[in-house]
Amino acid sequence: MNLKAKNIATILTKTSLAVTLVVGMSANTLAEQVLFKNVNVFNGTENKLYEGHNVLVEDKLIKSISKKSPKTDADVTVIDGKGKTLMPGLIDSHVHIMINSNYSEIIPNQDPYDLGIKSAIVAKDFLMDGFTSVRDMGGPAFATARQIKNGNIIGPRIYPSGAFISQTSGHGDFRGRFDMGWSQRGAQDLGVWEKLGLGAVADGVPEVLQQTRINLRHGATQIKIMAGGGGSSKYDPIDTTQYSVEETCAIVEAAADWGTYVAAHIFTDRAINRALDCGVKTMEHGFFASFETYQRAGKEGAFIVPQMWGLSPELANNPLMPADKLPMIAQLAETYKDVGRTMLDAGVNVAFMSDWVGEIEDANKSRRYEIYWRTQMFAGGKNNYDGNFEVLKQLTSLGGELLALSGPRNPAPGKLGVIEVGATADILLVDGNPLEDIGVINGGYTEWYSQPTPSENPIKTIQLIMKEGKVYKNTL
Ligand SMILES: [Zn+2]
Repeated sequence: MNLKAKNIATILTKTSLAVTLVVGMSANTLAEQVLFKNVNVFNGTENKLYEGHNVLVEDKLIKSISKKSPKTDADVTVIDGKGKTLMPGLIDSHVHIMINSNYSEIIPNQDPYDLGIKSAIVAKDFLMDGFTSVRDMGGPAFATARQIKNGNIIGPRIYPSGAFISQTSGHGDFRGRFDMGWSQRGAQDLGVWEKLGLGAVADGVPEVLQQTRINLRHGATQIKIMAGGGGSSKYDPIDTTQYSVEETCAIVEAAADWGTYVAAHIFTDRAINRALDCGVKTMEHGFFASFETYQRAGKEGAFIVPQMWGLSPELANNPLMPADKLPMIAQLAETYKDVGRTMLDAGVNVAFMSDWVGEIEDANKSRRYEIYWRTQMFAGGKNNYDGNFEVLKQLTSLGGELLALSGPRNPAPGKLGVIEVGATADILLVDGNPLEDIGVINGGYTEWYSQPTPSENPIKTIQLIMKEGKVYKNTL
């Protein structure tokens, strides 16, 4: 079956109404073609550029990549790339587009419509920074994802998890002392985070199964659980392990029954090994584990999705950082300075995450800084890693492999994060070679807190942004 037939088959299985629509369209409508001429291709997987190539896009997919001019329809749109770099759209594998106010605002007094409207601004900013797909790791991003898909607002393709699922006292338990919890359900027993659909507290197999299925009912493309402690929550020290084997395995099975997988907020060896025992596929943060644990995760096809800024000495320059935390930041940065290289040595797949939460003015800073900082954390070592290439893979082909874990729940029409025949036409044209200068995709942003605000906006060197064959920015 060719790709077009496969797409139609997928659509056909969805609704019978679609049958008439698709048949009608394919009979009368010519496919739209866009030809990028004279571009240097970074394909997302190889540490090189294919110079002087032509890339033909038809509808939502890449149709051909060639040195010679391809055969095209008469009404093809031709874009002269003038020797610029053509590369895959970027993928942020861990974002929270709905957690777009500060916690201090959300907890006492949040109007949910503010979160919704602001999420549209956040989504647009992601796309304009070159991100064509994001995986949302907690929050009710379903409406935003739908409105982007319908074309009513613009933004990246969103993979929503829905409410992150946490045990009582876990990383997602933001209730107050006098909120009673799920077992005595009733709206008055729910914390604000639960009422807003940002998180859900569930204990025991029946409750975690129900919450998993509620998220799937809303359209979650994967399930996010809290499997260990964290820094931003109320009750749980970072070394804790959360959810029993029975609870974790039950959630994984319910997700697998829907054709998809579970992502876990997690840090330690103990927690990661328990999660692997149950078949959890992506370990979010995950940077306090050992070489052996990363090795096991790699062998079992799991991903580590760390936000390396959490280990950056630059955090000390945050004016909001309490002085008593400064020694801890310095110590973490020193103790874990090699963890990125350790992950690569262990052979585990690593994907990019910015994990930004809070007020929207600062959203682009976290991802732009994270791009730069990773080029330092994933460089050098005994295998002499090329930091730019490693982060570019994490932002493209590896992110694409991770998103493909959603199986039939994956909304993309073809492969993501690669420039290949048949892949989704998510494409950037960049002035410069990101393999040599990462600044061309992050606005040259290297110091999070010391750099003047606002940072370069939009990023001038990202000259063209295409998602599913549609151009959203073109300054060529
Ligand atoms: Zn997160």
